[in-house]
Amino acid sequence: MLGEEDTQPKERSREERDAEVRCLGCLGHFRPPSGADHADCPHCGASWRLTWLDAHSVKIRGPWKKS
Ligand SMILES: [Zn+2]
Repeated sequence: MLGEEDTQPKERSREERDAEVRCLGCLGHFRPPSGADHADCPHCGASWRLTWLDAHSVKIRGPWKKS
């Protein structure tokens, strides 16, 4: 999305693991819905704001403010 080319060879196993994040609260792994701008950790219930690097790569950006 930012124009950077992926120099790493694509690995099928990585594709299938897609879009997993680690909760900053409880360090549990979970998979947010594809393209979601935020997601709740199923382990501890914390809400996190998400940034998608590509369709299979997502990172937690910070706490999500619940309104
Ligand atoms: Zn958690």
